[in-house]
Amino acid sequence: MPLKVKCPTCRKEAQWENNPHRPFCSERCQLIDLGAWTQERYRIPGEKIDYHVSDDDEDEDDEERRR
Ligand SMILES: [Zn+2]
Repeated sequence: MPLKVKCPTCRKEAQWENNPHRPFCSERCQLIDLGAWTQERYRIPGEKIDYHVSDDDEDEDDEERRR
């Protein structure tokens, strides 16, 4: 039975076995996701995180921060 996962970036089916970029389908999707992560979730340490400045709620983190 083929082992497949859904690519978190493009949501296409990605091969799991022999896939160096799993769970992504390709290096491109992996980089996109890593880039999104570093931008949205892991700000540079020491830099102030101004979540309260902008009121955009496109981030999942906002759901947890909302009271
Ligand atoms: Zn993909």
